[in-house]
Formats: sequence, C-alpha cells, structure tokens
Amino acid sequence: MKQRVFSGARPTGRQHIGNYLGAIQNYVALQEEHDCIYCIVDIHALTTLESTDRLQHDIHEMMLDWLAAGLDPEKSILFVQSHVSEVMELHTLLSMVTPLGWLLRVPTFKEKARMQPHNVNYGLVGYPVLMTADIVLYKAELVPVGEDQLPHLELAREIARRFNSLFGFTFPEPQAKLTCFPLVLGLNGAQKMGKSYNNYIELAATPEETLKLVMTAVTDPARKYRSDPGHPEICNVFRLHHFFNPARVDEIAAECRSAGIGCVDCKKLLAEGINSTLASFRERRASFAAKPRYVTEVLADGAHKATTIAKKTLAEVKEKMGLLPPVSCRIQP
Ligand code: ADP
Repeated sequence: MKQRVFSGARPTGRQHIGNYLGAIQNYVALQEEHDCIYCIVDIHALTTLESTDRLQHDIHEMMLDWLAAGLDPEKSILFVQSHVSEVMELHTLLSMVTPLGWLLRVPTFKEKARMQPHNVNYGLVGYPVLMTADIVLYKAELVPVGEDQLPHLELAREIARRFNSLFGFTFPEPQAKLTCFPLVLGLNGAQKMGKSYNNYIELAATPEETLKLVMTAVTDPARKYRSDPGHPEICNVFRLHHFFNPARVDEIAAECRSAGIGCVDCKKLLAEGINSTLASFRERRASFAAKPRYVTEVLADGAHKATTIAKKTLAEVKEKMGLLPPVSCRIQP
C-alpha cells in the first residue's frame, strides 16, 4: 500500500518562492509514489484574519498556484478544510487529550500573541490541535512542510501518541518531510520569507515585478563598495542561485569573491534565473485562470473524496473513545 501524505497551508493568496522551495515542490514530487492529500486550511486562517472579505479570492489564487506548480487532481486529493466538517469534530475530541501546557509553550503561539495582542483568540492556542486533526483524520504518515512547521509537527506526534496510549493504536505518528530549502529567508534577509513580513516574491509576479523586488534584496552586509570581495556563503541572494541558476553557482561564487561582479549584477542574474525557471509555471497558471469554474470543480471533487476517508476515521475515533454504543446495540437508520 502507498504511504499516505497530507499537508495543509493557509489561504494566503498567491504563493511566494519560500512556499514553493520549502513545501510545494515536495507536494508535487510526492504525488508520483504516494497517496497524497493537500488542503487549503481556511479555518486556520481565521485565527489571524482581521477581515474575511478576501478569503474566497485567496483560496482561488492559491489553488491556481498549486495547479500550475504541478499538483494534479487525478493524482492527489485537493480540497478546502472547512468543506470537510469532520475535522472540526475531531479537533474537539483531540482537544480533550491535549494538555494546555503543551500548547502554551509553542513558539508560534507566543509569536502570534506578540504580533496581534488585541486578538489572542482561543483558536490561536488550539492551532496545533486543529493541525493534528487535519493530519490524523487521514492517518497520514508523511507531512511535507517547511522548517517553521517542525514544532507543530512534533506536537502532532505527541498528541497522536497520547491518543493511541489512552484509546489504543489509531493514528500513525506523522513524520515531517523537508526539501533541500527548508527555510527560505525573505528579501530583507532577516526573517523567513512570508506574507506577514512583506519580504516575498510571488511565483506569479511578472518578470518586471520580479526584477524590481530582487533589486531590493539585502546581500552580503560586509560588502560596502563594488570593489570589495564578497562572501557568498553568508549572502541570501547567492543561496537562491542554487535553485534558480544551478548550473552557474560556482561561477557566480568565484566572481563574487573576486569582485568580478557586484551585487547589482548578481541580483540581475538571479531575477533572470527566477523568470526563466518560472516561465512555464506562469503560462500554465494563466491557462488555469482562464477556466473560471475549474478550481471550484477540483475542490468539490476533492472534498467529496476527503469526506469518505474522514467519516471512516471519525467513526473509529468515536467508537474508541466510548462515544458510540457497541455495533450490536446501534439503531440502524
Ligand atoms: P502556514 O500557516 O500553513 O505555514 P504558510 O503560507 O506560511 O502557511 O506556509 C505554507 C507552507 O510553506 C508551509 O509548509 C511552510 O512551512 C512553507 N513555508 C512558508 N514560508 C516558507 C519559507 N520562507 N521557507 C520555507 N518554507 C516556507
């Protein structure tokens, strides 16, 4: 039997190159040999959204990116979290076996509480429990994510382990699957590339927008003048050449170290590399965008398939937790 893979991401609209390098490229690769389920986690998004006006738009834009990147509804189940309501029931049940202390010490909870002190909502604390419910509802064994998600996944394993020890083996303990770029830094080189830090390049940006954004990127801070030798090993722009200009990495490193090229030249090369690598992605995206009902149809079909699996797991969980009478005593509809 094929190994089950699950991953979810919040509907942040158009995806950036951090999402692609850290997660989406693995989503696509795993489809060939695994049984994959990928979910747009709209309920999770509600923990941080000030307004939900753009939610449907962002779901649509994100799916266009996923499809253009190579996610194939013939190979993977693609759906929206809230369309399979069983996850909310499982979330409630798992919350009964999750000690509050485990949740309060999660680093992302502390960071979000700092970033939105006016809105430290209950959902924010329960975020990793809902994430666990997402994964174990499908009994997934492998979870492709970026490095920032590792603490959440560790917690998911602990919750699954605790449930199994209390009620008998039910859930495999999910393992993270990282790419070769598990943490892509943003253009400012300070934090991870992310929508909340406004330091990202969207996959679907135009070549002109891409060049403009790359030109703002922070490079080697020790290199003040064009004639100074550079240090590619500490430069965020250089790191990205590994993916977008793989054949020229050694040459670019040597030219940087000898001050043969300056940071502006190096950034122009990176923008060219990004634009040529993403040219076919951008064409595919435009063709999916031209079919207005396609995304809706894919998501409806995905929700239908996911619900079938979800109902089965939820019935098993309820039975193990003593919430259903033995089969022999149940009233058949
Ligand atoms: P989520 O809230 O689900 O993490 P994000 O849009 O932040 O939503 O991330 C979606 C996926 O992309 C996650 O697996 C995350 O780890 C990965 N990811 C996001 N930003 C980066 C980054 N800068 N570098 C590597 N992976 C990233």
